[in-house]
This record gives sequence, structure tokens and C-alpha cells, in this order.
Amino acid sequence: MKMKKILIVLIYVFSLYSCSTEKKDSALQKEVQIYLDAYNKEFQKLLIINNEAQWKLNTMIIDNDTITNKIATLAGEAFAKFTGSKENIEKAKTYLTKKDELKPLQVKQLETILFMAGGNPEIAGEIVKLRIKAEADQTGLLYGYKYMFNGKEVTTNNLDEILRTSDVMNERLEAWSTSKEIGTTLKGGLENLRNLRNQSVQALNYKDYFAYQAAEYNMSGGEVMQSCNGMINDIWPLYRELHTWARYELAEKYKQPVPDYLPAHWLPNRWGQDWTALVNAEGINLDEALKSKSPEWIVQQGEAFYKSLGFNALPKSFYEKSSLYPLPNDAGYKKNNHASAWHIDNDKDVRSLMSVEPNTEWWGTALHELGHIYYYVTYSNPDVPIILRGGANRAYHEAMGSLIGLAAMQKPFLQNFGLVAKDIKTNDTMSMLKEALDYVVHIPWGAGVMTGFENALYSENLSVNEFNKKWWELVKKYQGIVPPNERGEKYCDAATKTHINDDAAQYYDYSMSNVLLFQFHDHIAKKILKQDPHNTNYWGSKATGDFLRKLMYPGASYDWREHLKNNLGSDMSAKPMLEYFDPLLVYLKKVNTGRSYTLPVKIN
Ligand SMILES: [Zn+2]
Repeated sequence: MKMKKILIVLIYVFSLYSCSTEKKDSALQKEVQIYLDAYNKEFQKLLIINNEAQWKLNTMIIDNDTITNKIATLAGEAFAKFTGSKENIEKAKTYLTKKDELKPLQVKQLETILFMAGGNPEIAGEIVKLRIKAEADQTGLLYGYKYMFNGKEVTTNNLDEILRTSDVMNERLEAWSTSKEIGTTLKGGLENLRNLRNQSVQALNYKDYFAYQAAEYNMSGGEVMQSCNGMINDIWPLYRELHTWARYELAEKYKQPVPDYLPAHWLPNRWGQDWTALVNAEGINLDEALKSKSPEWIVQQGEAFYKSLGFNALPKSFYEKSSLYPLPNDAGYKKNNHASAWHIDNDKDVRSLMSVEPNTEWWGTALHELGHIYYYVTYSNPDVPIILRGGANRAYHEAMGSLIGLAAMQKPFLQNFGLVAKDIKTNDTMSMLKEALDYVVHIPWGAGVMTGFENALYSENLSVNEFNKKWWELVKKYQGIVPPNERGEKYCDAATKTHINDDAAQYYDYSMSNVLLFQFHDHIAKKILKQDPHNTNYWGSKATGDFLRKLMYPGASYDWREHLKNNLGSDMSAKPMLEYFDPLLVYLKKVNTGRSYTLPVKIN
């Protein structure tokens, strides 16, 4: 579900439509434009080389092929050298001292150039090299770690399986504890990485690495924290019901007294971030209906869906260059089976890497990936410079894909395709509960625990002697979860989450994306389709297509908050999500009658 992206910074409010009325360009504006045109051109050239190399690395994996790897490394280094160069940093900084005299779109591009430089600024010298090495070392430890369970080596998939299915308490505890052992080996590396990440962005005057990542949203670190707290507050009443329900449900399942807080090893996930396995919803069984279809049918119907909304057909090169289906066994090479969408040249060359098979999972995934592809295609237009061709913010891109993925799973939509019988009976409350155990449960975790920890780590320089103390304080406060036993500072439970190591200080993207997705969906259902958000059919709605294209068109060329206000008439808010789950809240309150609640009524 990953989207290949370049980093884009969001700085000033800008209306795209103001260009035509501008007066003649000043000498300075002309000079800056010449610089920006050259930058965009060189950037695109290096981007293509880099993406082509990465593409090959992911689509044609041959044992002992060191050449492809080497080419990709060199391409990555050339790209980093250009974006982080002293010359570009100085040019951008100098021009920005006169930003009042420049056009908003020029300012935006200069800010983006500086932000991208922050990833590997030449002016930070050795620090950048040390950081890159430390990141590679940490990743090596992370993926090379051997998990031992009952004296046997196991994978994290094996451990997850136990946590999802086992009723044997000792076994659960053992699986959970095993999954956390890796933290002890990553702790030192994490402290080192924190220091190096902070130092490398401080060379460009960002306060710290958390603030650096927040700058891409045109926000301060404090504003991100505030925004995260807002989301948690919005969904808290529902989370509190889900927490109470889960305590009683699990106590009964495991034949234990009802605990005040959820023991971490009781939950079906190593971090308690996804509780969907707690419910077996009698839902729609798509697998059966899709079995007789071909993988090609799935991709073609996905494209047909977008065309029904008024989008153009995909460029021919999409089908020629993408890698959409599983490889035959005798292919002689392998490919990465994780789905992704690629924008090779930040222009017309869009591709997807998938291994589509005719089942429910790929039905949702293929439509999700096509959401990214159509977003790429739509913001690749003459009004958006190459370096601003990205999502309005990091969360937008994912929200767009997930929105279409969600719409593609709703009953009326599936009935329209003939994939589900017209008279099918489904248990809507249980389906909704399952959805909430994913989307809602994720928010206190993502916006509360992960973001709170990384803010403390980078912005508050959290002492290495308090990594675990801080972690479990946050877990208890936001998730209402406690560890099964004393977790001293020997452990480093935060570092067991891969993102803490290799995708630092941006985990709130997922929470924001969940929230935005429901805002978009709510708007489309109520304002455009006039349908119940639980039962929509987007198919054939040109007005929905117009709305989506309006959201997608400007890419990252103006402030996402302004963009949201202009198109939805509101700020980012989890209220539409909460409203979607309102019938569930009523149901849970009834189920929880007479039960004790241990989470506070209000958080923060
Ligand atoms: Zn995605």
C-alpha cells in the first residue's frame, strides 16, 4: 500500500487561480524563475535515473545481482548530492530573504528545495554520512534479528499468528515477550540516531527532527501535537467504549477476572494497534465471487471505475511498464510482492507494482493503488512545477487511496458490479465494529503513543534512561494498555516498531490519513451522492469525479489546510469518522451498561 514519494514542504497559502492577473515580473522574479526552472529540470533528470534504478531493484530480483544494487546506490547518492548541495541551500536561503518580493509559487518551491536539502545537507558534513551509516546499521539489526520461541527460530508472522488466535495465556505471554526482545539490541542505535537526525536538520536551522518532519505540513512540532490531541479528543468517547468492551470480552474469552487496563499480551497485535481479529464479522464474502474472474479483470474494472467518474483512461505506458501480476515460477527472477504506486518522472510515467490475484484483498488493494496513480496523473499538469507534484500533505495521498479502497468494499457498489447478491443479509453492526477496531483503535496509538514518544525523543531530548518509562506512560494513558510484567530500561519497547527506526517522526500521517479519508467520504456521500455513508455507490458519479479532481489537481502547490477549507468547508476533524460510527457507539453503550469504565471521560 506504499506510495513512492518525494518529500514536499508546504508553506504558504496560495491560490492557483491568481496567476493570470499578475503584473509583469520583476527582475528578481525573473532571476529566481531561471534558477527554479533549471532546478526542476535537473531534479527531474536525477529523479528518473533514481526511480528507474529502484524500479528495477524491486521488479527484477536476481540472486547475487550486485550490479543493480550498485547502480541504485549510485543513483541515490547523485540525487542526494544535488538536493543537499551547498549551492542549492545557499541559493534558496538567499532568495527567501526577499520572499515578500517573490511570487507565492516561487516561495513554495524555494521552501521545498530547502526542505529536501534537510534530508542530507552538505553543510552538515560528516553528520550526514554518520547518520546514513547509523540508519543502515539499525535496519540491518532490525531485519537480521532472529526471534527465538521455545528454542526455535520463528518469524514475526508466526508470533502475530499466535497473538491473533491462541487462547493459551502462557503461550501468548511468551509470544509477546519474544517479539519485544529485539528492542534491547536497538536501544543504543536509537539514541545515536536521535542525536544524528537532530544534528543533521539543525544545520538547516530546524529545531529538531520532529519539527523538521512537521515543517512538511507547514506546521510547527507543537501544532502537530495539538492536531493529534484534537483527533484523540474527538474519537475518545468511542475509544472508551471499545476499551471497556474489549476488557470484558477478553476476560470472558480467557476466563480471567476483568482487568482495569488491557494487558498487552491479551491483544491480537504486538502493539495493540489493531484489534480487528477480536471480531468475526458475518460480512460479504467476495472471494467466492472473484474466484472466477481473472487478475486482469480486477485492474480493468478498477480503471473502468475511475473512468465512470470522468477520469481519463490510464496512459498506455502504464500497462506496458507496470508489473501488475504474480510472476510465473520459471521467470528466473523474483519481485517485491508488496503493492506500491510509482511516479517515475513526476510527469506521465506512472506505474504500479502489484501481484494481483482474484480475491478480496487484491480487489481493495488494486483500487487503492489506482487512487495513488490517478492522484499522480491529475497533479501532473502545467500549473504544478515538477518539485511540487506530491500530495497536499503526506497523509493526503494515502487517504485518497484508502477512500477508494473503502468505497470499493461497500455493499451497493459491489451489488452494482454483480459481485454481491441483491438480497444479501449482512450484520452491519459487527462489520462496523470490525472497522472501528481498525480505524478508531489506531488513533490513540498513532496520534497518541507513537507521536507522543517521538516528540519527546526528538524535541525534548528524552533521556535514554527513560525511553521505556515514557513509552509505557503513553501506552497506559492513550491506549489503556499495560505491560504484562515490569519493563525496565533494559528493554526498549518503542524500538520494536520499525517506523521508530526507519521512518522516523512521521507516524501521525496514518492517523491523519484515517481522519481525512472519512471527511472526504462523508462529503461525497452526503453532499454529492445524497447517500448513507455506510451504503454508497460512487460508480458513474461525474460530480464525485469532479470533486476528487479538484482535491487532486494542485498537488502540493498550496497549503493543505487552506485546501481542505476551500473544498470541504472545514478543518481537519475526526467528527465525520465519529459520526460514521455513531450507531456503533449506541450499540456499545448498551452492551457496556453496568460495566465499570477505567478510562477517564475526557482525555487531556
Ligand atoms: Zn497507499
